[in-house]
Amino acid sequence: TPQSLIRNFCIIAHIDHGKSTVADRILQLSGVVDAHDMRNQFLDKMDIERERGITIKSQAVRVPWAVDGTEYTLGMIDTPGHVDFTYEVSRSLAACEGAVLLVDATQGIEAQTLSNLYMALDDDLEIIPVLNKIDLPSAEPEKYGEEIANLIGCDPDDILRVSGKTGEGIPELLDTIVKKIPAPHGDPDAPARALIFDSVYDSYRGIVTYIRMEDGEIHSRERVRQMGLGSAHDPIELGVISPDMQPTQSLGAGEVGYIITGVKDVSQSKVGDTITTEKNPATEVLPGYREPEPMVYAGIFPMDNVDYPDLRDALDKLVLNDASLVYQPETSVALGFGFRCGFLGLLHMQIIVERLRREFGLELITTAPNVHYRVIAEDSSEITVTNPSEYPEGKIRAVYEPVADADIITPKEFVGDVMDLCQEHRGNMKNMEYLSTERVDLHYELPLGEIVFDFFDQLKSRTKGYATLNYELSGEQEADLVKVDILIQGERVDAFSAIVHRDKAYAYGVMMTKKLQKLIPRQLFEIPLQAAIGARIIARETISALRKDVLAKCYGGDITRKRKLLEKQKAGKKKMKMLGRVEVPQEAFIAALSTD
Ligand code: GDP
Ligand code: MG
Repeated sequence: TPQSLIRNFCIIAHIDHGKSTVADRILQLSGVVDAHDMRNQFLDKMDIERERGITIKSQAVRVPWAVDGTEYTLGMIDTPGHVDFTYEVSRSLAACEGAVLLVDATQGIEAQTLSNLYMALDDDLEIIPVLNKIDLPSAEPEKYGEEIANLIGCDPDDILRVSGKTGEGIPELLDTIVKKIPAPHGDPDAPARALIFDSVYDSYRGIVTYIRMEDGEIHSRERVRQMGLGSAHDPIELGVISPDMQPTQSLGAGEVGYIITGVKDVSQSKVGDTITTEKNPATEVLPGYREPEPMVYAGIFPMDNVDYPDLRDALDKLVLNDASLVYQPETSVALGFGFRCGFLGLLHMQIIVERLRREFGLELITTAPNVHYRVIAEDSSEITVTNPSEYPEGKIRAVYEPVADADIITPKEFVGDVMDLCQEHRGNMKNMEYLSTERVDLHYELPLGEIVFDFFDQLKSRTKGYATLNYELSGEQEADLVKVDILIQGERVDAFSAIVHRDKAYAYGVMMTKKLQKLIPRQLFEIPLQAAIGARIIARETISALRKDVLAKCYGGDITRKRKLLEKQKAGKKKMKMLGRVEVPQEAFIAALSTD
């Protein structure tokens, strides 16, 4: 396609404002998907996305659209809306010249509307503001149009009104995309440069790399080079997605497509790297992506330690498709070999664990998540702790915790409740802005460790679901934190240690010892369960002893029944971990470490 006829855009919005549904109508109206094959949220291809009704992966798809008899090629990217997937959105934005900013006409601007808009503006994208869901009787396009106009400084009359459900206004939206979004600006005659913005591992075809061509052209028979890695490969296939993979002979400046080289070694693909051709190589790489900053860390361990190599392999493959995941090997006395993983939030963590289970068939134990801390020891040495077991023993001079800037948008009648909640979570109010006469945007500084866990659920329940939250890391502050250890029969169990605010240490200790008391079956001896800060015990429970003579139950001569019982016991043992003399069932770990 000639570069002047290409328009690349992404659809951004707060979660549930209708991005994927608008994308559906675009696929249908442009004829890319016919009525027979159409299904709701067509681009949400993963099972987890369909079950949860949310978009996790950005999906790029090519659609044709004619304006005044000229056929244009639109590169459309549907993006996720949840705060945990901001990194996914940021990479998509970098592949586009424009963004369709959707706002639900029954809800108005929400927290992720703002964060996505600011990211798009940072990338100098042309913004097309759109009110969606105008088919709904509760839609208030005038009122929310006003909010949008105030926010981005446009004329309220220029805001398009569409319905992703009925398709109303979608042709006009496509016309506007063609007219307002600039064609890609790369140099078609320069040596080829393409940015890798995503990839996925396909067990048959190897790594599929998604690229956005910046300059020049790549042909399917030309050897390509990844500039960062310095490796060269012959393409097996080059193509575009519309709505499935369609091989093409070449990809030119401004086009979005994919490349397959048959390589299966996952270290041979890096999101953010630049691809060029071997014959006429570019000299300068494209600006890549900033490294994602994990917000929470947790250990992931195979249920059975023989699966450790499979887990490593699975993570290596998964990270191709999720550049925001970070991981490194870790060893736990209690859980064996596993990985310390960094995630962008709890939802992200759940999705990763779920994908490891489904796509790789692994049975896993995950430890309780925590944020990272900077700890200064008495001798001024300093470490960053992402795992409670790394927390230095002995005297500590200072501990710093990460803090985040949070935006909370709420109808004004809930402002008091939101302020109370933030207060309880050690929040510090910065300021308050009115979006309209009825809705307020509260800016708070909150410790990251107070936001990432149950804050959002509490916010929702205290505001009847109306308030929305967005946050980003902003810095750190000194905090009064301690490490609480859990001891089973006097032995510290590393998997249960936690770093908590001093005010919450006792509550954590009581909660954990009580949980374990219920979860660990009684054994032939008494088992003390203790919580401690250093050498100081802060909570204690006991599991009393039991004389467990199961064979006594089946006196008499039924030898087969006895044998069956013994076998059953043996099978049960496999699912046990020995902590000192104490047998702890796997389920106890899972239940004790679960976040809910
Ligand atoms: P996303 O999270 O922004 O991708 O939102 P989805 O496209 O998944 O839509 C969220 C919900 O809003 C779904 O239940 C859709 O059926 C519904 N929805 C989306 N667009 C419209 C619309 O224009 N009208 C109505 N009535 N419902 C819509
Ligand atoms: Mg979606």
